[in-house]
Amino acid sequence: MIRTVIVGGGVVGLSLAYELACRNEHEAPNREIVLIDSGAFGRKASNSGAGILLPSNGQTAIHPFDQLEAIGNNLHESWSERLRAETGIDNGFRKCGGLYIARTVGEIALLAGTLEHWRQREIEFETLTQDQLVRKFPIFKESVEQSDRFKSVFVPSEYQFRNPDHLAALVDACRRRGVQLHECVGPTELEMQHDRVAAVKSASRRWTGDQFCLTAGPWTSALCELMHQDLPMQPVKGHIVLYKLAQQKFVPVVNEGSRYLVPREDGHVLAGSTIQETGFDDSIALGEVDGLRAWTGSVLPLLDESKVVDCWTGLRPGTFDGFPYMGPIASASNAFVSTGHFKAGLQLSPACGVAMADLMDGLEPVVDLTPFAVSRVSDRYYSKSTENK
Ligand SMILES: Cc1cc2nc3c(=O)[nH]c(=O)nc-3n(C[C@H](O)[C@H](O)[C@H](O)COP(=O)(O)OP(=O)(O)OC[C@H]3O[C@@H](n4cnc5c(N)ncnc54)[C@H](O)[C@@H]3O)c2cc1C
Repeated sequence: MIRTVIVGGGVVGLSLAYELACRNEHEAPNREIVLIDSGAFGRKASNSGAGILLPSNGQTAIHPFDQLEAIGNNLHESWSERLRAETGIDNGFRKCGGLYIARTVGEIALLAGTLEHWRQREIEFETLTQDQLVRKFPIFKESVEQSDRFKSVFVPSEYQFRNPDHLAALVDACRRRGVQLHECVGPTELEMQHDRVAAVKSASRRWTGDQFCLTAGPWTSALCELMHQDLPMQPVKGHIVLYKLAQQKFVPVVNEGSRYLVPREDGHVLAGSTIQETGFDDSIALGEVDGLRAWTGSVLPLLDESKVVDCWTGLRPGTFDGFPYMGPIASASNAFVSTGHFKAGLQLSPACGVAMADLMDGLEPVVDLTPFAVSRVSDRYYSKSTENK
């Protein structure tokens, strides 16, 4: 029996725990799985995110990141069904489509780049004139007619899910499948023994294991220091403003530049997001909220101040080159890491769970994890900083 300890219960850690638990033979489990979180499970970035799953095409995906995205989208469909059957929780996974609009020269140029990417990846989309857009989605008539410059595109293969419900389903399913769950344990650190991690310790408890995987979002860097492994990470704050309408008024996610509206079936609409690098400060910046509200009003005047019901932030786990860290840690022979999924952690999470479970099972991972190796930090990060000086 192998004992695997996962440190950090956001969507990445929970998905790995769930995948490992699903691999356990029910009658004769060969693995004990322990999941530990300093706080409550799934309350950090994983809860704050919008739950958008961007379009992808597994047939044309060449880079492992694109492959993870495509596998992620497929797995979300099957996991959502299985999680609903196991827990009774519907995570709201839906193929809602994505409407992309551009109303400035810069945005039009950016959208042209996105369209070229979709063409190359053979992702189906439909360009809409202003008239066609208004006919298809009359609710946007006002903002469309007020724009001198305008381009819009509809992409059918965009999905959304309600991440808080998905997280609740993962926790429940892990519990039912025998994962040992320990949340709100307070700060933790690793206990090293020669070149191995011996245990994870909190102020009052110690969890030993044969294998450890660190999935603590932007806090993973601090844990890695104890293994003398540099893991440069940058928490990247994002805000979301939540609106409530009496009923759902439009179905697709609406995207403009880095901003979006995500309509839920019960009439809630999430407006996101912002990008700030303010360290681990996750306080709400009123200026950023005002900016989001002004943009939302310009897209859909119906969403005025009286419909705002909540507002929050989250810290995306950013890395120095935009790619996640996934793989073994050289300085500790029984330690692995899976973090740094930045803006795509919700989308990638099931695929990352499968790839990391493969690796920890000694199997060839479902995608080539070489571009995500931790060793690239010394190869590229430091040589780059020296070159720049
Ligand atoms: C505003 C916003 C919108 C987003 N929208 C989307 C989206 O639409 N689609 C998408 O795919 N992604 C989106 N993302 C990104 C996505 O939310 C993240 O990439 C993802 O949630 C990261 O998950 P994680 O499990 O790595 O980290 P987290 O969710 O941050 O979880 C890390 C966990 O580790 C715990 N922890 C920290 N330190 C320790 C320790 N020492 N010991 C034990 N536990 C510890 C924390 O308490 C936390 O529970 C969005 C993010 C934000 C902020």
